[in-house]
Amino acid sequence: MLASSEGACSFGCMEITVLGCGTSQGVPLIAHPNPGLDRANPRNWRTRTSIHVVIEGHAVQVDTGPEFRLQCLHNQIENIDTVLLTHGHADHVLGMDDLRQFCTNKQGAAIPVYSTPEGLGRVRAIFPYATDKPESDAYVSLTLHAMPEVLELPGGGIVRSTILPHGVPVLGLVFEEPSTGARFAYYTDCKRVPSAAVKLAQGCDVAILDGLRPAWHPTHMTVEDACEASKAIGAKRSFLTHMTFQVDYDTWTQKLAETYPNVGLCYDGMRLKL
Ligand SMILES: [Zn+2]
Ligand SMILES: [Zn+2]
Repeated sequence: MLASSEGACSFGCMEITVLGCGTSQGVPLIAHPNPGLDRANPRNWRTRTSIHVVIEGHAVQVDTGPEFRLQCLHNQIENIDTVLLTHGHADHVLGMDDLRQFCTNKQGAAIPVYSTPEGLGRVRAIFPYATDKPESDAYVSLTLHAMPEVLELPGGGIVRSTILPHGVPVLGLVFEEPSTGARFAYYTDCKRVPSAAVKLAQGCDVAILDGLRPAWHPTHMTVEDACEASKAIGAKRSFLTHMTFQVDYDTWTQKLAETYPNVGLCYDGMRLKL
């Protein structure tokens, strides 16, 4: 595995960019002292959770949160072919209108969005103008699809899905690059990783897992829950996402190095090549 911010990734390669790894309100919290968080460390400035994956030359956007536009600008995202929406919560869906330029660049072609019934319902409710009309180069245009268990992408990349518990059902995603067999699991927004999801991701090269904060939460995994899930999966390397201000980057990177050496923290702009 290479960790790099340079070099294009086309065929025979999977490249993951962490566009954001912050919890639903982002980090730092506004109008709050954020005790314990080193605001001088740029890795503690977290936009809402989202990743971009290029697999066999096909560009997949996972979630489009409120900072989606800025995330695209900061990470040089020049193309999106397919959108996977993990679920319909505001911090994952509210930036979807900013897919507009990607439609325009495809001569108005609609972008396919795959999600759960709940996620698709949210897209229809928030962006009716994008889903109820023929393709147009004047507005964002989306086609909505139920996420299948196995999605074969143009170019040959495969995305397997499973359902994670989070109050609402959430898509857990496992990306597979067929020419190398590299596998990457993305399990954000979940209270736990059920046995079917553990099995689906078993032995993957990299897992990105919901690790909200040290303390218990009704619908998210704690840092320790995520570390234990990583162990159960047997991921070669794992990174935590969807973190609150209580997870200071340097403090927790050091703590994890001592207790779970295969687990680290995501940061906005982190790039992985498999
Ligand atoms: Zn979320
Ligand atoms: Zn959520």
